[in-house]
Amino acid sequence: MTFPDQEKSQEKDQDKFVALVSAKTEVTLPLSHFQPRSTLVTAKHPIERPRFPVIDYHNHLDSVDPAETLRIMDACGIERIVNITMKTGEDALRMIEKFRAANPHRFSTIGWLDWTGVDQPGFVAKTCAALEQLVERGVVGIKLWKDLGLTIRDARGEILRIDDERLAPLFEKAAELGIPVMFHTADPDAFFLPIDETNERYEELAAHPNWSFHGSKYSKSELLDQRDRVIARHPKTTFVGAHVAESSENLARATRLLETFPNVYVDISARASELGRQPYSARDFFLRFPDRILFGTDLLPEENMYRLYYRFLETADEYFEYPSHASRQGRWNIYGLHLPDDVLRKVYRENALRLLPH
Ligand SMILES: [Zn+2]
Repeated sequence: MTFPDQEKSQEKDQDKFVALVSAKTEVTLPLSHFQPRSTLVTAKHPIERPRFPVIDYHNHLDSVDPAETLRIMDACGIERIVNITMKTGEDALRMIEKFRAANPHRFSTIGWLDWTGVDQPGFVAKTCAALEQLVERGVVGIKLWKDLGLTIRDARGEILRIDDERLAPLFEKAAELGIPVMFHTADPDAFFLPIDETNERYEELAAHPNWSFHGSKYSKSELLDQRDRVIARHPKTTFVGAHVAESSENLARATRLLETFPNVYVDISARASELGRQPYSARDFFLRFPDRILFGTDLLPEENMYRLYYRFLETADEYFEYPSHASRQGRWNIYGLHLPDDVLRKVYRENALRLLPH
């Protein structure tokens, strides 16, 4: 127990100490110079190779050398990478061929929806024909990116809604061709919030202000609702919600999506930094939907990157760097999920196999 006088003198001592420290150090350290190092001493279990073979269902390989990528894949236990090409037209066909020639058993290609001429009559029919051609040439899916709902405009100059009825034949065509439609709708929540001192990705957005969609015509939640209406409207079409269906900050929402619509899978690419900051909820999510979650990275193939993903999924390690640490998303570290073998086997490979042609 302390007496009031004693308390006062302790406060005084504390003030003196703070004054002393402030005099010795720069208290107005710029945020960009702040490089804290964790002092925690915890167990480390780095993982060289995954416990089961891996299919990376979400990556972009257009710029990589297939031979060097195969070397990395061998070193990291990766059976196959799905290249989501960002090329369209003839360039897309060349990209499919480049990876087919390198090794048809180790690479697959998902096509990129070409919005050229979206404001012209006949766009949807032309795109359905292009989809047929892409599938003939071997693509295993089609990706619709975040530009739908944010920047693509119709003939009247209006932002095209994701659930615009005019686009419905595209989704029916995908079902007929037996290929999944991958949706990357919207972006992290932080990209729709003001770039200010409360934004958890302030440094990243300050470095890339054009990544912000704050003030977009449709809010993030409206964009996800539009997407979900498409999923509801086309029950015969299989959908993949990239980046945990853009609900990694809100796993209750992702849970509702997967519970409501049996025709949806999600990939975990580029979201270890959200999932790994809520390891209890994320683990529950994996255990609840072991058949619906796909391993993906969305980061250039690199040994250390893959190994961090394995450490994240397989171990119970605490507070370590997330796989895209170098890009400085935020000042946090992640925790491992320590997933059981039966879940790992499905997430790493078996779920992807169901979506790939056999
Ligand atoms: Zn991607």
